[in-house]
Amino acid sequence: MKHLNVWREDFVSGTTVGVIGGGQLARMMIAPAVELGIAIRVLAEAPHMSAELAETAVGDYRDAATVLEFARTVDVVTFDHEHVPQHVLRALVGAGIRVHPGPDALLYAQDKLLMRARLSELGLPVPDWAAVESAEALEEFLAAHGGRAVVKTARGGYDGKGVRVVSDAHGADDWFTALAEDSNGGALLAEELVPFRRELAQQVARRPSGEVVAWPVVETVQKDGVCAEVVAPAPATAESTATEARDIAIQVAEGIGVTGVLAVELFETPDGRVLVNELAMRPHNSGHWTIDGSVTSQFEQHLRAVLDLPLGSPAPLQPWAVMVNILGGPAGESLVDRYPRALAGRPAVKVHGYGKEPRPGRKVGHVTATGDDLDAVLADARGAAACFL
Ligand code: ADP
Repeated sequence: MKHLNVWREDFVSGTTVGVIGGGQLARMMIAPAVELGIAIRVLAEAPHMSAELAETAVGDYRDAATVLEFARTVDVVTFDHEHVPQHVLRALVGAGIRVHPGPDALLYAQDKLLMRARLSELGLPVPDWAAVESAEALEEFLAAHGGRAVVKTARGGYDGKGVRVVSDAHGADDWFTALAEDSNGGALLAEELVPFRRELAQQVARRPSGEVVAWPVVETVQKDGVCAEVVAPAPATAESTATEARDIAIQVAEGIGVTGVLAVELFETPDGRVLVNELAMRPHNSGHWTIDGSVTSQFEQHLRAVLDLPLGSPAPLQPWAVMVNILGGPAGESLVDRYPRALAGRPAVKVHGYGKEPRPGRKVGHVTATGDDLDAVLADARGAAACFL
């Protein structure tokens, strides 16, 4: 493990949160940590990552010895991503290290088949699903679901990778072959293709000692499997739908024992039902609006939750907040070069840059606009984001 910055042993902060993963989610925990007077140490996958503003070590999060060495220098371990293997997480817990969320909860963010099974067990609404181990089993599922299905790899998918709509029993043969070659074997997740009206996301935060708070449910818009835009709260939402979304997320957090911030990605069906798609047990793109739009941002709340501190109000500061991701970014230019154009005449817009090299499709920042007129807020956020194309 290489120490990029020397640990500031002289700095008596009293409390240090260790974050595994050096991406923008870890980076966005830094500002509230500074405000709270809490130190952040990051175990990054590579040098020069987004979160390197904090004290950073570079090391392999899949290696128990590396992660243990890192974890012994902090008071609590949390995450920028959900990929730390179970054996590593359990080694930390076994060594008496505080880990939030813990391995028993993270399991359900790491494996979509286990997640579907657990949610079904909890009686929560999910799309029709099955674990399929062969083209024959997929054919059976297709036949029972009008000839089309969504097939997902149980592990390792993100931003739409590992998700495929199939209408042919052989449409996932490459994945079945890969599974057969993997010594662990396993199955794919087949789901009904939900004819959703829109996608929603519900975030909650939960402390180890039990307190839970919920932000308002938001609408998320994906482009090419990647979150593009978030409107908070989700416009024209029936009271019953908002309540159901909140209750589902609280049931997930309590049922699975999630600590920290939890995002529940949901489908709203044309008949007003809500189905759970995915779980993320960390700050999430659907909650970036909270930095500028809510009394307590998801990043501050996550720190408070993993430290088991009293949680802050999730109340919105303005009637509307719209977040638009900056994807790709200006080639060969820094984001800041575009700030004059993006910000001019848009005093209600905030820009957040992640300090990442622009590459096609890469999330390099986001903008958030807030206000009381949704059309104006949408125009502001979209107009500002367009200045980075
Ligand atoms: P990832 O883990 O890559 O984010 P998701 O499981 O969230 O993958 O799926 C990515 C996107 O694919 C979703 O946001 C949604 O737009 C679409 N999708 C996923 N599952 C279904 C489904 N059962 N029916 C319809 N669309 C789906």
